[in-house]
Amino acid sequence: MNHPTPRISFEFFPPKSTEMETKLWDAIKALEPLHPAFVSVTYGAGGGTRERTHHTVKRIIQETALKPAAHLTCVAASREEVDQVARDYWAAGVRHIVALRGDPPQGIANYMPHPEGYRYSSELVAGLKRIGNFEISVAAFPEKHPESKSFEADIDYLKQKIDAGATRAITQYFFDTELYLRFIDRVRKAGIAIPVVPGILPVGNFTQVVKFSAMCGASVPQWLAQKFEGLADPAAKNAMAVSVALEQCRALLTQGVTDLHFYTLNRADLTTAICKGLSITSK
Ligand code: FAD
Repeated sequence: MNHPTPRISFEFFPPKSTEMETKLWDAIKALEPLHPAFVSVTYGAGGGTRERTHHTVKRIIQETALKPAAHLTCVAASREEVDQVARDYWAAGVRHIVALRGDPPQGIANYMPHPEGYRYSSELVAGLKRIGNFEISVAAFPEKHPESKSFEADIDYLKQKIDAGATRAITQYFFDTELYLRFIDRVRKAGIAIPVVPGILPVGNFTQVVKFSAMCGASVPQWLAQKFEGLADPAAKNAMAVSVALEQCRALLTQGVTDLHFYTLNRADLTTAICKGLSITSK
């Protein structure tokens, strides 16, 4: 191995059913021994997972040694409602928030802020800092946010989030390492010094990734499609997912990246294998 062992973190999403809850907790328990720096729990579009996100984060605090980061968005809620969620998190012992604007609820094309709500994530970050001295991570987009008119504008807004108190950015997933490296160049040239942690998505289901990528503005390169083309056996697909992500992580680490954030989609198998390939094993 010719790169240092990275610091890792994992993202989970809150479960919708008892069956999914069992799956999530199997994944959390399986990944806990890898000692991630933190684990984050997403917040559904439209704020619809408020209770489930809270429940999952609380369970992580009560039942594991992991440090949770709760995602929180501005969507479909007044400032007061969002602030209350944040106060509840603070009271429950949560000290790290991933502060996001969020996307419009399904079926609604354009984002419209709530009339009494936070309009952008930078406003949410400032609001959170008024409530408690949270550690705050925010989103960054190596291929720029789909609604942004330019990279420059996007990076200016990233600066606003940092000025408001964010100390880490986590990127949207990407498959071409070069996209991340070019983005980092732009970010550093703009004077941004905080860690911009690459988000790694193991491609557990190529078809779903194609669908989701079209919505979130991440490109799916032809070479990736070719790798999964003709693979029908689930074990072969999983092996390819691990191989692709491992290669990507190694390329990033060789370029000086020190932290990796894995979008686990509540699966432990792929992330465990990738981490093992990076010499991160259970302790
Ligand atoms: P913002 O930073 O508010 O930016 C949104 C858009 O507005 C951008 O185009 C930006 O350039 C522009 N903008 C920002 N500030 C201004 C300003 N002052 N004036 C004019 N324009 C401005 N979504 C969820 O619903 N739940 C989640 O849990 C979740 N987790 C995520 C985790 C990560 C790591 C990432 C990368 C994304 C996540 N998302 C989640 C998706 C995210 O909510 C969407 O991508 C959303 O569209 C943008 O969020 P943001 O925080 O970057 O928004």
